[in-house]
Amino acid sequence: SNQKPTNFIHQIIEDDIQNNVHGGDVVMRFPPEPNGYLHIGHAKAICLNFGTAEKYKGICHLRFDDTNPEKESQEYIDSIISDINWLGYQWTGEIRYTSSYFDQLYSWAKHLISEGHAYVCDLSAETAREYRGGFNQPGTDSPFRNRSVEENLSLFERMKNGEFKEGACSLRAKIDMNAANMNLRDPMLYRILHTSHHQTGDKWCIYPNYDFAHGQSDSIEGVTHSLCTLEFEDHRPLYDWFIENLPVPSKPKQYEFSRLELNYTITSKRKLKQLVDDQVVTGWNDPRLPTISGLRRRGYTAASLRHFCDMIGVTRSNGIVDMGMLEAAIRDDLDSTVPRAMCVTRPLKVTLTNMEAGVEEWFELPAHPKDESMGTRRVGLTRNLLIEQEDFVEVKPPAKNKHEKWKRLALGDAVRLRGAYVITCNEVIKDATGEIIELLCTYDPATKGSNPEGYKPNGVIHWVSEELSLPCEVRLYDRLFTEANPDGDKERNFMDCLNPDSLVVLPDARVEVGLKDAPAETRYQFERTGYFCIDKDSNADKLVINRTVTLRDSWAK
Ligand code: ATP
Ligand code: MG
Ligand code: MG
Repeated sequence: SNQKPTNFIHQIIEDDIQNNVHGGDVVMRFPPEPNGYLHIGHAKAICLNFGTAEKYKGICHLRFDDTNPEKESQEYIDSIISDINWLGYQWTGEIRYTSSYFDQLYSWAKHLISEGHAYVCDLSAETAREYRGGFNQPGTDSPFRNRSVEENLSLFERMKNGEFKEGACSLRAKIDMNAANMNLRDPMLYRILHTSHHQTGDKWCIYPNYDFAHGQSDSIEGVTHSLCTLEFEDHRPLYDWFIENLPVPSKPKQYEFSRLELNYTITSKRKLKQLVDDQVVTGWNDPRLPTISGLRRRGYTAASLRHFCDMIGVTRSNGIVDMGMLEAAIRDDLDSTVPRAMCVTRPLKVTLTNMEAGVEEWFELPAHPKDESMGTRRVGLTRNLLIEQEDFVEVKPPAKNKHEKWKRLALGDAVRLRGAYVITCNEVIKDATGEIIELLCTYDPATKGSNPEGYKPNGVIHWVSEELSLPCEVRLYDRLFTEANPDGDKERNFMDCLNPDSLVVLPDARVEVGLKDAPAETRYQFERTGYFCIDKDSNADKLVINRTVTLRDSWAK
């Protein structure tokens, strides 16, 4: 194709294929650290890596970057696997683990020592940091920098054999303590951690750090284009230094792209974990979190997340994406794909005084107004109905203009019940406190389906029959933070701008009988209300239903 890709990574890859770089191969990898659940930012990286491999008929590995055993767990590994599959991607071959390369990495570390490129340093982490200097200050050589190769090999082996306490010493590369790039000032390669590892058990008590493990793991796997986020740009010279100075089997290249950040939320595993641990939310899959499992439970489809990642593109400029874009992506998907239904979220009792008790009248309504292939649904009408509290006022507000007139029910006025009859409200019944508890209405049999001459109902409202509906709990979710950039103010902690109304539970909602036994993750548009999704907390007596998103962007700015 001679169409220019909008994704700058695709441009690089097309040039490389053309110039036969890496033999024209495209081998990608997605390398999560299993220290939390994946979030929407990871979805961007997943779509980029797996999507690029797909596009260029290459392959993509899944590799767990598991070099910090203290923070990692099998639970996180399992969730990551399930989220990637749910997004619709499949890695090539076996799942990889950086930890399965520990033997190879250990022997490469010894190779660096033998070549005079690494040494065991006894400085404490704090002292080593002081010796490193600053951006305009040269560093100071460690007093251990000139140990002999033999001494270093012996000390490194003793580190591996568990002879030293944590922090007693570390292995460092011997590069340049005056390098302008701080990452080249003798970076640490291995530290001692007397911690068992979820994959290697107690085999190791020294662990390589990210920089020493990442590029070499890429090389072992034959990765051609190793994509990471921009904060690793300054690590690239170190990435290349290892590849140049070690007898690695292939020469991968690192490319950086900008992180996805969304307003009104947080995309950092560490901070998401704090929300989970402090029970601000109910778990990693709380529908308010931007985790993939949270978005899924909220009602987002995999297709909408992939489409969103496509829309935001891949660049090298950082920017914060508006949450409204993510919401637009799910509305766009659901509008044409999910059936309609009626759900009354805050019920007000309506009695049709001219309808006999015990009589049921069933209406056949389209499942989707524009897609006949989705079939029809049956909605039953009886004497006792429920409408939305907010769809009634005793006294109509005065119309500012003909577009803004009251379109719902009012005392002495008529309104159409969606798909059924026009009803007129004749009387309002209140409790002792003056609260409206019931409306006495009459329906007009002549209005079934269409308005006879001279009839001007205010508008159309949704409704359910009291008897022919199911009880449900509706959970209205909103943004988790009140600030657009909860993380952006140094003076304020993100925990201090939580939205107190991020979850509103409506326990007495009622929904059409057609939703009976709908399994978790079934999605609907509730007419006039929004897009909703059945939650896994539902049981035989009560459905639990999550609001995915409102029908229109209604966030009060
Ligand atoms: P966090 O800061 O949330 O812990 P991380 O980068 O440490 O994120 P990893 O598990 O190391 O998390 O990420 C796996 C891959 O996903 C990496 O290649 C990383 O660059 C990418 N990634 C992580 N967060 C984002 C994001 N917000 N936008 C785009 N890519 C991301
Ligand atoms: Mg990381
Ligand atoms: Mg991290």
